[in-house]
Amino acid sequence: MHQFINGSYREGNGGQHQLINPATGKSVETLNVADSADVDDAVAAAKAAFPGWSRATPAERSEALHSLAAELGKRAEELARIETEQTGKTLRMSTEFDVPGSIDNAQFFAGAARHLQGQAAGEYSAEHTSMVRREAVGVIGSISPWNYPLQMAAWKILPAIAAGNTIVLKPSELTPGTTLLMAEAARDAGIPDGVINVVVGAGRVVGEALVTHRDVAMSSFTGSTAVGRRIMELASRRGNRVHLELGGKAPFLVFDDADVEAAARGAVAASLINGGQDCTAATRAYIQRPLFDAFVERVAELMSQVTVGDPTDPETDMGSLISTTHRDRVAGFIDRARAGGANIVTGGVIPEGLPAEAAFYSPTLITGLAQDAEAVQDEIFGPVLTALPFDSDDEGLMLANDTPYGLAASAWTTDLARGMRASSDIQAGCVWINDHIPMLSEMPHGGYKASGFGKDMSSYSLEDYTNIKHVMIDRVGQPDKDWHGTVFR
Ligand code: NAD
Repeated sequence: MHQFINGSYREGNGGQHQLINPATGKSVETLNVADSADVDDAVAAAKAAFPGWSRATPAERSEALHSLAAELGKRAEELARIETEQTGKTLRMSTEFDVPGSIDNAQFFAGAARHLQGQAAGEYSAEHTSMVRREAVGVIGSISPWNYPLQMAAWKILPAIAAGNTIVLKPSELTPGTTLLMAEAARDAGIPDGVINVVVGAGRVVGEALVTHRDVAMSSFTGSTAVGRRIMELASRRGNRVHLELGGKAPFLVFDDADVEAAARGAVAASLINGGQDCTAATRAYIQRPLFDAFVERVAELMSQVTVGDPTDPETDMGSLISTTHRDRVAGFIDRARAGGANIVTGGVIPEGLPAEAAFYSPTLITGLAQDAEAVQDEIFGPVLTALPFDSDDEGLMLANDTPYGLAASAWTTDLARGMRASSDIQAGCVWINDHIPMLSEMPHGGYKASGFGKDMSSYSLEDYTNIKHVMIDRVGQPDKDWHGTVFR
C-alpha cells in the first residue's frame, strides 16, 4: 500500500503506476496512486494534528525526532536497498551517504527544535517592551524529486515538524519507497498520527491538488525550475508562501595556481556523483588556459576508469540513471553537441554489455563548446562535464555566473585571496573552495537566481518554516496614556 495517511497505510484511488528498477528495466511493483480525494484526507489529517503538535514543547518534539533517528537506524539496510532498487544509484552510496545523512539530519533537527529563537530589542521606550515569537505556519504541502528520495524527504519533513508544523509530502512517483518508510518510522517513533502524511501520485494531479488545497498554508518544493515556477504561480493564487529548491548548473573554476591532480579528481567525483543527477553536481569546468590540457587529459583518463553497471555490486562506481526516458534526454544533449562540432573527449555512449532496457550512460567529458551552447547553459542532469578555457580571473568569474542558475559552485586555487574573491563574486547559494559536494546538516543549502529561494538544512531552514509574531506589552499600564495624537488629544 502506497499512501500513508493519519498513521496508516492505505491504497490510493487514482489508478495504477508501474514502479521500475531503472538498473534492470524490470517492474518492482504496481502502485495504486492517489487522487485529489486522497489529498483531501491527508490534508485533513495534518490539519487535525496541528493544534496538538504545534503546542507540544520543543523538548517533546526533540525527543520524538531523536526516536525517529533511532527508528531510521533500525531500518538502515532496508532503506538503502529500496533507495537503490528505485533510483539505480549504487548500494554503496545509499548505504554510506543517503541513509546516514538522513539519520544525521533527524539528529540535528532534534537538537535544533529546542533552539528556535526570536530576536527582540524590547527596551526602546519608557512604556513598552516587546517579544518576538516564532510560531509554526500550519499544514505544509511538500513535493520532492527522485534523485535523493530519502534525503529530500528528510530535508522537507524534519525542519517543518521540528518547528511544530504538520506536513503532507508528495514524493516523486518514481521513487516513493523510502519516503513511505520514513513516515512509518515516524509513527513507530511515537510521532502522533497525522503529523506526517505521504501521498503518492503524479505531479499534475496530486502535486497540484496539494499546492492549491485551501488548508495548506505553505508549499515547499524541490525539483526542476520549470515545475517550481508552476508551483509559485499556483501558490500565488492563494497568496501562500513558497520555499523552492530548484535546478542547478554548477561551475567548477580552476585557477592557474591550482593543484591539477586534486582538481581533476574533484571534478570527476563531483560531476559523476549520483550519475550526475545532483542539483549541485559540477557541470561546467572552466580552466585557466595554462592548465587546460593537463586537466582535460587527467579528467578523461579518470572518467574512463569509472565502472558503470549493477548498482548492487560493490565494485561498481556509478549505477544507472533514473529511467530510459531520462537517459535518452541526456543522450540527446550529447548527440546534438557532437553534431554541432563539439569534441566528446570520453564517453557519450550507452555502455556496452549492460541490459538494453536499463538506463545506463557513460561518464562524458565535452570540450570545444561555446559558452552559449545548450550543453553549457541547460541542466542536463546526467554524468556530463563540459570543459572550457579562460584567460583572466575576471573572465573566469564572468563565465561562472553566465547561466540562469545559482545553486552551487567551486573555485580551485592555492591563493586564499583568489578563493575569497571567487566566493564573493560567484552568485550561488554555496561556493566551495578546493572542494565540491560536501553538505552538512548544520549548514544551509539553497539557491540564488533560477535555483530558487529558501534554505534546506541548518537552523535557517527551521526558521523558514515559522511565522514571526511581534507581541508588544504596555509595561507601565497608565490609564491616561498618550494615544500619540490618533483619536484622543
Ligand atoms: P520535477 O520538477 O520534474 O519533479 C519534482 C516533483 O514535482 C515530483 O514529485 C513531481 O511529481 C512533482 N511535479 C511535477 N509536476 C508538477 C506540478 N505541475 N505540480 C506539482 N508537482 C509537480 O523534478 P525531478 O525530475 O523529479 O528532479 C530533478 C530536478 O530536481 C532537477 O532540476 C534538480 O536540479 C532538482 N533538484 C534540486 C535540488 C535542490 O536542492 N535545489 C535537489 C534535488 C533536485
